[in-house]
Amino acid sequence: MPYKEGLRPQPPPPGRERKPFNEYQADVYARLEAAVEHIQDSETFREYLLMQSRFHTYSWKNALLIMAQKPDATRVARYDNWKKLDRQVKKGEKGIKVFYPMLRKQRNEQGKEEEVLTGFGIGNVFDVLQTEGKPLPDVHIPELEGDEGGVLLGKLEGLAHRQGVRVRHLPPPEPGSHTMGSYDPLTRTIDLHASSQLQVTKTLAHELAHHFAGHKPDQQRQPEQETVAEASAYVVCSHFGLDTGARSFPYVAVWAKEKQVLKNALGTIQKIASTMIRGLEGENRHPDELAAPANSSHS
Ligand SMILES: [Zn+2]
Repeated sequence: MPYKEGLRPQPPPPGRERKPFNEYQADVYARLEAAVEHIQDSETFREYLLMQSRFHTYSWKNALLIMAQKPDATRVARYDNWKKLDRQVKKGEKGIKVFYPMLRKQRNEQGKEEEVLTGFGIGNVFDVLQTEGKPLPDVHIPELEGDEGGVLLGKLEGLAHRQGVRVRHLPPPEPGSHTMGSYDPLTRTIDLHASSQLQVTKTLAHELAHHFAGHKPDQQRQPEQETVAEASAYVVCSHFGLDTGARSFPYVAVWAKEKQVLKNALGTIQKIASTMIRGLEGENRHPDELAAPANSSHS
């Protein structure tokens, strides 16, 4: 901040030194990166990623087939992939039918071997609930507990209101669901599920970060979008004295999967978090001044 000559700020009295804003912010980012990396370096995390790679991503046709046969299925895999995870399909469990592509190797005109699709076969997969054995490696993402956050929650609701975003308070999530909130950019509506005040505050910061980043539903970009939203929420909450690391660190680690995802997103996170902090501190500013940069290439 530029100071007029002769009006330079005096150093604070001894014992009352405050870190300059930028230095403080740098600490917050360093802590975030280190904590996320620490989780990603752990053995559990490596096993977790390996497990995820065994769960095939199904085409929408197969996803519909699975849903029609077993609506509560969450994680499905082939019989032999369950074995690789040290789990067995329970006796009497019926497989869920899916299509799989049938490929045949053949030589093309240049004499090179290539795989050609010859049709579709029908195979079986099983949901995790149909199996038993070694517990699946899990990275726990706890729900935050605590009554802190009241002041920030009010400020975030005010910011949402000035942005023309509606905030709805809903009952707690259904049993088994860990979704604490959501943002629908089409209707500009944020849904918050009831929880501790600290958790609800963090969730609102997360969903508002999606709004400021201009995120639209996009499965391919979801890892990057969730990384940006949660990391921004962590930075915003830290700025107002709330520590949400217990949930934010594993959340970011799991979505980002690789360290590079968070590293690449840091610039965007910084932009979104500081836009939000400015919006929360300068409550009387015109919403247009706070609008997120309109380019949606959040690189
Ligand atoms: Zn999200």
